[in-house]
Amino acid sequence: MPDINVVLAGGLRDRQGLGLTRRLPTPTRAHVDLGSNDYLGLSADPRVIDAACKATIANGAGSTGSRLVSGNLDVHVELEAALAKLKQTESALLFNSGYQAAIGAIPALVGPGDLILSDELNHACLIDGCRMSKAAVKVYSHNNVDEARAMLAGRRNVRRCLIVTDGVFSMDGDVADLASLAQLRDEFDAWLMVDDAHGTGVLGKAGAGTAEAAGVGSKVDIAMGTLSKALGASGGFIAGSQRLIEHLINNSRSFVYSTGPAPASSGAALAALKIVKDEPERRIQLRNNADYLRKSLRAIGLPITNGSTPIIPVIIGGAEPVMKLAAELQSQFGIVGIRPPTVPEGTSRLRVTVKATHNEIDLDQAVDAIDDVLRRFGWRQYVLDGFGLDPETDHAVA
Ligand SMILES: *Cc1c(COP(=O)(O)O)cnc(C)c1O
Repeated sequence: MPDINVVLAGGLRDRQGLGLTRRLPTPTRAHVDLGSNDYLGLSADPRVIDAACKATIANGAGSTGSRLVSGNLDVHVELEAALAKLKQTESALLFNSGYQAAIGAIPALVGPGDLILSDELNHACLIDGCRMSKAAVKVYSHNNVDEARAMLAGRRNVRRCLIVTDGVFSMDGDVADLASLAQLRDEFDAWLMVDDAHGTGVLGKAGAGTAEAAGVGSKVDIAMGTLSKALGASGGFIAGSQRLIEHLINNSRSFVYSTGPAPASSGAALAALKIVKDEPERRIQLRNNADYLRKSLRAIGLPITNGSTPIIPVIIGGAEPVMKLAAELQSQFGIVGIRPPTVPEGTSRLRVTVKATHNEIDLDQAVDAIDDVLRRFGWRQYVLDGFGLDPETDHAVA
């Protein structure tokens, strides 16, 4: 048997050849942070930090066991009640991350003999949950509800049907057509699961997310989210009926066989939820900042799509040019490059995210920096023309 390091080095070399090696960035805080998912700035809010400290002092650094054994704490129960209230559901259940919520919930709900319909741009945690379930998976093209309808209409001998979608798509920043998907759910007696990692705390009048904004909150059977984005903390959750939660407590392996969330993260999320409820002006400021940044990026000629979310992709094309651009923008602005397999081939991009705590001066500085680096590298025209760039030559390819 060859040495483990020799074998692994081969795979890593292959990736490097494709310009796709992933490396951990140097741990720094950007001068203006346009790369994180901390949309409301709550991870640095003194009230949220204070709540994390108090929950730690009251409960300890860790929760010491699975929720079903020694790890069930008041702060978990309180947080679940607050999440159910936000999502207007009977109940909610915490997981250690959004990823764990997805891979815990989907296989607990569907299996062999069942059918899942999944948007092609769904987050990796949904894809993995679908695979783990061993249900048949049909992938419809992005937001193509007609295609999803045809798949449902053509189904044969299927027990359960589950429609899964991101609420806000994490790399494109657009939103799912939940009104139409909710109609499909009704029409075909399917179940609807929405991963609203990026909508929770951001969209909707109460900050309940994409489904609230679309007016179909009551049609979402499985409302998934994370505490690690707009809520600035850490952990994931599923909200839904009392029965759903009871079922997940009994059947979600990532819930049953994992230690309960750390008191600090649950305490922080609880404080963040209170701010989401009490300070709707943060959501308004976030939306204004997102509109302002979209407009400013367009003003320097970039092809920015319409949108209402704080995620603004700047599509460049080739993976290597994107990483070169990001290297210039990362330390000061935290802007990261995203490439395959996270996004489809030829659509590598800078993923720019805006926060409620930015002001126009911050955003102007970032736009100037992007403009400057594109000019210096001589790539501006290519981006303008909507071409991708050949990673070998840095020249445009149609
Ligand atoms: C970030 C993200 C997740 C995972 O949430 P974590 O709490 O970070 O594990 C799930 N779904 C989507 C759409 C995400 O963007």
